[in-house]
Amino acid sequence: MALRTGKQYIESLRDGRVVYYAGERVEDVTTHRDLSLRAKENARQYGEGDNEDPARLALRTVVREDGERVHRWAVPPKTREDLLKFVEMEESMEGDLHGTMTAGITGLSILARKMDAKHGTAYTPRIDAYNDWFAKTDQHGSFAMTDAKGDRSKPPSGQVDPDLWLRVVERRKDGIVIRGAKTSVTSAAVANELLVLPTHAMGPADKDWAVACAVPANAKGVVMISNYAGSPWGERFRFDRPISHSTMHHDATVIFDDVFVPDERVFMCGENEFTRELLMYFTTLHRTGAIIKEPRDTRKLIGAALLMAQYNGLEGVGGIKGKITEMVQTAQLLEILRWTALNRVSFVEGVCVPDSTACNMAGLTISETRQGYLEFLCELAGGPVLTAPSGLDLANPDTAEMVKKYYVGKPGVSAEQRLALVKYIFDIAASDASGWNRALGVTAAGSPSARRVAVSRGFDTAACVKMVMDEIG
Ligand SMILES: Cc1cc2nc3c(=O)[nH]c(=O)nc-3n(C[C@H](O)[C@H](O)[C@H](O)COP(=O)(O)OP(=O)(O)OC[C@H]3O[C@@H](n4cnc5c(N)ncnc54)[C@H](O)[C@@H]3O)c2cc1C
Repeated sequence: MALRTGKQYIESLRDGRVVYYAGERVEDVTTHRDLSLRAKENARQYGEGDNEDPARLALRTVVREDGERVHRWAVPPKTREDLLKFVEMEESMEGDLHGTMTAGITGLSILARKMDAKHGTAYTPRIDAYNDWFAKTDQHGSFAMTDAKGDRSKPPSGQVDPDLWLRVVERRKDGIVIRGAKTSVTSAAVANELLVLPTHAMGPADKDWAVACAVPANAKGVVMISNYAGSPWGERFRFDRPISHSTMHHDATVIFDDVFVPDERVFMCGENEFTRELLMYFTTLHRTGAIIKEPRDTRKLIGAALLMAQYNGLEGVGGIKGKITEMVQTAQLLEILRWTALNRVSFVEGVCVPDSTACNMAGLTISETRQGYLEFLCELAGGPVLTAPSGLDLANPDTAEMVKKYYVGKPGVSAEQRLALVKYIFDIAASDASGWNRALGVTAAGSPSARRVAVSRGFDTAACVKMVMDEIG
């Protein structure tokens, strides 16, 4: 099958999937007021036919060795150049990122070879065939990893209810039956495929929970309860919420209620000793998120701060200049970490992965600085960040002239200009959508404590102690 168009992707979502949202069953996610917004964003990642700009086609797709043109997200990067292109592709697209699915499938295909060698299983042809099918039929996937977990101090086998971690409840001659829930699955309601992976490393008592497989989003027994992120304010509020007026990110709790998975879609079943390694491979490409989004977002904060200071005539104030310089230092640090991540690459079983320390340091740098910068932006914008009239009042002839008179900045800066910037700052620092983004930055793709552990791993602390011991004799 050739690459799909955006229209074909949208049509593929009308497949009888079971989705609930805000207390109601959703009949068709592609026409639903809120959920359809993300489906439309994702559709724009696809082409629309033959007249596509060749540069865009070259960025979003690759021609495989067998001559098949497939999406770049379906091919793990083999060289540093591939990795750079992969990151560039992710940066250029609105809608869902793909690093997690690529990382999941890649991790499973590396492990399949190891599991087959040890146990004489036949996972390698299965994952290779699945990967090939996924690429050729141009699927859109979500990864379903995070279990409900219950008592976090206990392993899956120690839970009062064993279903709190997704597990195998039945082994049949042609497949397995799985039961459990995966929480926080990004865009599950608009995905074609769900890639189920274990969340944690599993011990020998947890073999039934050491399961990885692929499940179609409309499989019998799959129920998705999408979170209610709130309806975006819509096009009417474009001026007041320049970033978030019509976008919607949603995540679903995906319940696997005794779902049958045929053997050809099962990629791990009971090989608990490989779960730790799977997680290690998974977190390789997945980490690119921190170096894709964050350096760019920090530069936007600096731009907004500089403009706000200028519009208000305060660009010469020492304290403001000092804070902006601090922000520039952070941006420079993030650029250096991005460069390191993409240049100090390593090759894991033939796949080119970014430097994990640099990616995690980028994530930690953001969690330590972002909040302070957003507060600074609110301070710069002053009360109007929360209290200024709406763009609709600027458009209303009854009030327009009053708003235009009183919301100007320094000479030459109109009220329209200044308020547009104030609303931009509102939407990145104070709106409902900005609060959502702030929490997202804390947990998604690993909490700060998980990042700290990852950064410390492999660092030779014994050598540090030895240096001191040597010096004090
Ligand atoms: C916006 C968003 C999108 C996401 N998208 C996806 C997705 O597409 N697919 C997916 O699978 N997941 C996704 N996640 C889930 C994300 O990976 C998890 O939130 C994260 O791994 C933490 O797991 P948790 O939410 O279950 O929190 P918990 O595991 O409950 O952790 C909560 C806190 O408790 C601490 N903690 C937990 N257990 C222990 C312990 N034994 N000892 C000490 N401290 C402990 C943690 O460090 C953390 O600080 C997403 C999350 C967000 C916020």
